[in-house]
Amino acid sequence: MPVTTEMDRFQLGDMSAEEFRRYGHEIIDWIANYFEHIEDLPVLAQIEPGDLKAQLPSSPPEQGESMQTILADIDRLIVPALTHWSHPSFFAYFATSTSAPGIFGELLSAAFDVKSMLWRTSPASTELEEVALDWLRQMMGLDAGMSGFIYDTASVSSMHAIAAAREGVELRIREEGMSGRKDLPLLRVYASEQAHSSIDKGIITLGLGQRSLRKIPSDKEFRMDATALADAIDEDKRDGILPFCVVATVGTTSTSSIDPVPAIVEICQQHKLWLHVDAAYGGSAAVVPEMRHILKGCERADSLVLNPHKWLFTPFDLSVLYCKHLDLLRRAFSLVPEYLRTPEQEKVRSGSDYGVQLGRRFRALKLWMIIRYFGHEGLAARIREHCRLAQLFASWVEAADDWEIMAPTPFALVCFRAGPSNEGEAEDVSGKRLDALNEAIMHGVNATGKALLSHTKLNDKLTLRLSIGNIRTTEKHVRQVWNLLNEQLRLLSKPLA
Ligand SMILES: *Cc1c(COP(=O)(O)O)cnc(C)c1O
Repeated sequence: MPVTTEMDRFQLGDMSAEEFRRYGHEIIDWIANYFEHIEDLPVLAQIEPGDLKAQLPSSPPEQGESMQTILADIDRLIVPALTHWSHPSFFAYFATSTSAPGIFGELLSAAFDVKSMLWRTSPASTELEEVALDWLRQMMGLDAGMSGFIYDTASVSSMHAIAAAREGVELRIREEGMSGRKDLPLLRVYASEQAHSSIDKGIITLGLGQRSLRKIPSDKEFRMDATALADAIDEDKRDGILPFCVVATVGTTSTSSIDPVPAIVEICQQHKLWLHVDAAYGGSAAVVPEMRHILKGCERADSLVLNPHKWLFTPFDLSVLYCKHLDLLRRAFSLVPEYLRTPEQEKVRSGSDYGVQLGRRFRALKLWMIIRYFGHEGLAARIREHCRLAQLFASWVEAADDWEIMAPTPFALVCFRAGPSNEGEAEDVSGKRLDALNEAIMHGVNATGKALLSHTKLNDKLTLRLSIGNIRTTEKHVRQVWNLLNEQLRLLSKPLA
């Protein structure tokens, strides 16, 4: 089908400046409208798997199409296939959100399109990264010995932290690898059973093998049992295993529990083990001055990961690794082939020295713009409000007879479930019924499109999670989801009675 296009296909080069300006303005207007009316859209995409693919041509267009038709398809096809993470009633997983200064940062970064691999290929990116990350470090009250480096995700940040820890053990793994060697004992990393699966994946990626990760039990509030950690290390050492790293979590994925870092760091220092802190979610709360205590003990950690793309209003992706030994990270990953040698290389930082990537996006720009636009106070006020809303929701759950709290709420995540009394039933029967009831409540709420929740299992009990972290979420949205939950409970608990 012939399509009239504004681009003369015999003319080379990019879109004209005039056209770029016109559609650029149109797209900014479109985004402003999207945010203004996002509450009219269902949070969860109301489509079936394959629906979008079925509506798209299976082969690429032979000739260019007009921006007009492309943008019309965004409305017609793409938006209905979106789960709207920017919706203020998105309470699933860890609620996150982009922000206007962050979007502008992404836009400009796409225009500059620099590859931050050497200082000279992107002086702005290299130096802004150091400055923005040092500002963030100060806002969080982290130790001045911690230098920051940006990766895409926490999964990748933690993998690099474990690689640096391994490099510090002097086993010549960089040069000789781990395979075909009889001189290497089993290397061990410890994390709680509540730790994020990215730690397992990092271990797998580094060729350590899953048996190198020992999961330490947690207590009844889902925090690592430090005594069990000390015992596990002692036992491993007796068995000829070589411990080298402990991963503590500040804000675990299921419940946002906080591992006892002061006790853990004590054990690490005694055994000379690297302590990596996974604060991907919880770390942002340290920006709130009265919440800094959540990082107690972390001043003595070797590395810490924090995700501004989670709870610091930064569009995905941007994860920060703070590390006291960037030199080890460099020793593990730096390779400078002749074509990358520059006269200033001894005096400057080169991004490609600190990880597996050569070219890196200019992510620091959006973070720097966000910090400047909101200021430390503005960021803290928003996170403080999210924590207040979570406490408010938790107080409603506590006051209601037919709901119960399943874990403490140190941040802005509430773990709860419906628990109407089922007297006279055996524990396991009522347990299964309650799991089914709660799952049905969650799917019922999610199917309305008015809010989105997710779940986890705690002590084998299906538990609902309400995570507050979106920049647009207000008390109104939290009340609304509470009403939706109660409506579903009323509808669904009738047949149970
Ligand atoms: C979200 C999260 C991760 C993974 O984050 P990515 O950036 O998606 O890799 C890791 N650890 C914790 C504690 C998290 O909350």
